[in-house]
Amino acid sequence: MTSAGVGHPGRIVVVGSLNADLTIYCERLPQPGETVQGNGFAVNPGGKSANQAVAAARLGGHVSLVGAVGEDANGNMLEASVAGAGVDVSHVRNSSEPTGVAVIAVDARGENNIIISAGANGTLSPADVAGAADVLDGAAVVSLCLEVAMPTVLAAAQAGHDAGATVLLNLSPYAHIPAELAELTDVLLVNAHEAALFLGPGASVPGADAHASQWDTVRERFAGRGIRQVLVTLGAHGSVVLDSEAAPGAQVTFVAPTRVAAVDTTGAGDAFTGAVAVRLAAGDALADAAAFASVAAALATTRKGTQAAYPEAADVERRLG
Ligand code: ATP
Repeated sequence: MTSAGVGHPGRIVVVGSLNADLTIYCERLPQPGETVQGNGFAVNPGGKSANQAVAAARLGGHVSLVGAVGEDANGNMLEASVAGAGVDVSHVRNSSEPTGVAVIAVDARGENNIIISAGANGTLSPADVAGAADVLDGAAVVSLCLEVAMPTVLAAAQAGHDAGATVLLNLSPYAHIPAELAELTDVLLVNAHEAALFLGPGASVPGADAHASQWDTVRERFAGRGIRQVLVTLGAHGSVVLDSEAAPGAQVTFVAPTRVAAVDTTGAGDAFTGAVAVRLAAGDALADAAAFASVAAALATTRKGTQAAYPEAADVERRLG
């Protein structure tokens, strides 16, 4: 892992998904075979990688996105949103497949059902990663999630590793990852649910109020699987940094939640990931990056939407005092 030192541009390269979020609001979610009347509809830019790229760019990151969209209105909307935030989209290519969509139903209690159609995201291939060598070669951080095909994620992790970048992997949506990808990952970002799935049967992931020794056991289990730096997000309870690279006694750090009046927590995890990428690219230690990201993600929950809700660096700095 490297940090942004002298002569290092500190570029963040996000390789992955762009989706149009098609949301219908309704009183209650339909049962199988049932039709219910909606009471509102919205189309918003989304996709984990696009969200993370926008979050990082808003916070002052120097960001390139590698992805694919269809030649359709959703693709144009997504590219405009990402580029509008200052992300370099020269490696977002057009595909003959339609742009990826997430069809989301949200009921009156905020419960949701989501179906994702990968569309163009499914065409993103190792060849696209090879074609983005100009940005990957100078990357400080390569940020990945699992909304594109595993061979593509692996190729991007390998390219980031070969470039000396920090490879940041958000294990979402959860999927089993090959040992090779775990070895190429410098920092794993998971929520508690994904952490438990990754560690497998018998591995309980404690709550935010657990003693450091319980989290230290979790840290050892991740290290045993080849992952030495882990950020576990705990929603409104904050996050925990498990750092097997740190000195004994400093390997488990709790990051308290930033208290806000949350109105929409959708995409908080992506805001957190983008913010971590920015601070790692600037050379921060993992625990410092998590503390900054905690504020950025909390601020993102105070406004409706995902990309449109992400804060700027000045907002975070003001809150940090
Ligand atoms: P999603 O998939 O909805 O984006 P996630 O499960 O990946 O979410 P969370 O653990 O829910 O991620 O949230 C990520 C981070 O965002 C948390 O670690 C925390 O720092 C911040 N956060 C989330 N919800 C709140 C909240 N209600 N108040 C303050 N901070 C929050």
